[in-house]
Amino acid sequence: MDQLKLFEQPNDYTQHKKYINGVFKSKDDLINDLRNNGKQNIYRVLSFGGGTQSAHLLEDHLQGKIHYDFIVFADTGAEPQFIHEQVAWWQDRQKQFNNRTPFIIATHNSMEGGLEEMLHRYILTDYQRFQMPVYCNTINEDGQEVKAGIMPRQCTVDFKIVPVKQAVRRAVLGRLNRTTKQKMPDNIAFVIDIGFSYDEINRISLQQSPQFKYIYLAYPLVEQGLTTQDSIKFLQDNQLPEKRSRCYFCPFNCDKPEIGMDWAEIIHEEPLSFLKACYFDTMLRNVVLNGGKRIKSIPYFHYSRRPLAEVYAAEYSYYFRQYESELSKWIGEWLDKIEQKYGQLIPV
Ligand code: SF4
Repeated sequence: MDQLKLFEQPNDYTQHKKYINGVFKSKDDLINDLRNNGKQNIYRVLSFGGGTQSAHLLEDHLQGKIHYDFIVFADTGAEPQFIHEQVAWWQDRQKQFNNRTPFIIATHNSMEGGLEEMLHRYILTDYQRFQMPVYCNTINEDGQEVKAGIMPRQCTVDFKIVPVKQAVRRAVLGRLNRTTKQKMPDNIAFVIDIGFSYDEINRISLQQSPQFKYIYLAYPLVEQGLTTQDSIKFLQDNQLPEKRSRCYFCPFNCDKPEIGMDWAEIIHEEPLSFLKACYFDTMLRNVVLNGGKRIKSIPYFHYSRRPLAEVYAAEYSYYFRQYESELSKWIGEWLDKIEQKYGQLIPV
């Protein structure tokens, strides 16, 4: 038995319970099954996040190792500017390769302002759907705040994955001179590559899109057994940009620079974004504590379950003095936009 273990491949997805239980298939099996079910036109799509893992797949595409019919970057409306610059860098690189694969920038179909719009809407109106994985506290019998759970992460699906599906659906229907209200022909399917790494295999929850029955998801880095660090090393070895993509206020930001998703990067590279994150963090607690929301737990963006502006108090007061007027302008502009789009605001 021990001898057999010596020959086991590390990170072998076929040994993982998600694969064994049929939560996902290999991309080849998926495509073979689709062909056997009469899908002659299968569009291959890269869901490009602008960061590290999907950049690894994009580079493989530019090097001719993976075929894609579409590359789609879903703009969550809250990526730091350095990620937008990284996306533009990859678009330039694509041109240098003379690669003509359509590169689409997609957004949420009703909230084009993405997660910034969702949060302002949540704070300023009676909108109740809250999609972010914030840390929560609750109040115990003695009136003390105590640690509770973390909210489910629905923002990735709503603001990244679904917009990618809608964008490629729209693009193909457009090529067929059909509107988005019309049906996709029965012989068409899509396989969208998601850049989850092997260490993120537990994030895989489905193979077939719940929204569109002809759209499927594949996980090529998982199949290759590659970890997040493997992709970062690949990018470093090839002198490619390696900043981790995420929203500037993402609760998965941490304090470990080696992970590449740290608050310090946001604070020092984009102080105004950090101040915006502090604003949302404070306002969310205010609206929840005011009792106008279905959520009763007290939300925090920071993993310590303390206000962001308190955790990084010195940075907050230093940058607030510098950017106060820009922050107020941004808040005012959003207030006007939300009022125009959604009507009467609730007092906060
Ligand atoms: S980066 Fe964070 S906040 Fe943004 S969509 Fe992903 S999980 Fe949500």
